[in-house]
Amino acid sequence: MATLIGLLPGDGIGPEICREAQRVLNAVSAQSGRQFEVREGLIGGAAIDATGEAFPADTRALANEADAILLGAVGGPKWSNPEAAVRPEQGLLDLRAAMGVYANLRPVRTHAALYSASPLKAERLKDVDILVVRELTGGIYFGDKQRDADSATDVCRYTRAEIERIVRMAGDFARSRRGKVTSVDKANVLDTSRLWRSITDEIFASDYADVELETLLVDAAAMHLLSRAADFDVIVTENMFGDILTDEASMLSGSLGMLPSASLNADRGGLYEPIHGSAPDIAGQGIANPCGTILSLALLLRFSLGEDELAETIEQAVLNAVAAGHRTGDIAEPGQPAISTSAMGDAILAALPA
Ligand code: NAD
Repeated sequence: MATLIGLLPGDGIGPEICREAQRVLNAVSAQSGRQFEVREGLIGGAAIDATGEAFPADTRALANEADAILLGAVGGPKWSNPEAAVRPEQGLLDLRAAMGVYANLRPVRTHAALYSASPLKAERLKDVDILVVRELTGGIYFGDKQRDADSATDVCRYTRAEIERIVRMAGDFARSRRGKVTSVDKANVLDTSRLWRSITDEIFASDYADVELETLLVDAAAMHLLSRAADFDVIVTENMFGDILTDEASMLSGSLGMLPSASLNADRGGLYEPIHGSAPDIAGQGIANPCGTILSLALLLRFSLGEDELAETIEQAVLNAVAAGHRTGDIAEPGQPAISTSAMGDAILAALPA
């Protein structure tokens, strides 16, 4: 039976960038002889327009059945009324919950061809290859909340089980990379962080003695990410710290449009999406950068389907296309003409090995 990939293009630039990812998947499938069935579904604003729900039953069934999901983006001004009964973002939260994903992975690599797109100096960008592993289900975003006219409370809570599974995942990834994990917390102030640190120390001492463990406070980590990014291998951290640090780390690579992400569950099933949103300001113009989505497809092939070789082929093709000077507007050099979304797709297809 062919592997089933659910494709949820969503809103804004989602359909444009997903189309290019699908062309790349078709090409590597034809070249390698691997069979992939791709089935499309609705999510977000597009689903609200068609069905009144942001995560309709058909999409839920697809998420249950599929081996992995590739998503474009959701949201946009058409559905942004805060009083609306259904919002596109709820579709994404429901999808994550239905898939049971608890780890968000963001690889951040720098490439000489894109140094000029980053606000940082080139010497700070050399040899950066980081995998940020962010806990996705606990912490302050999901704790009890209270609010009255003059005060508000957000509870930050973590359990041993939540910490253990994410820290172990980081250790496992480090073993297949450069063998180092940096655990980021705020153990000088927060009890959740003290629990996080003691469990991490315990697990690494007993089960990951072959992996180097470094521990950093989140404020220091924010600084070190800019001053010595190349020293990091795997970074593991809780939900809110990860949310903030991953956006900071994205600036090392230059453009939002280049970066992929993966959200994994216990079976390594996953949801794959570029880190950017639906970019309503450029939607429908055919100028969005499809690289983040195509690189998300590569992560899908690697993490959920075990197709490391195909993943590498795609990553190399994206790199080669960019290095050869093919650039959408967000990564173009000053004065360089920008190419369209489909022309970027063409360049990546042409860079695949024959
Ligand atoms: P955004 O990431 O959509 O856009 C920020 C800026 O980056 C815009 O100028 C946009 O044109 C540019 N940009 C983003 N992706 C690009 C690409 N691939 N190529 C070229 N340029 C690109 O963030 P925003 O404007 O804050 O949010 C827009 C909508 O997206 C909102 O409705 C928001 O809720 C939603 N959103 C969705 C997700 C998601 O689906 N996971 C994530 C973030 C934001």
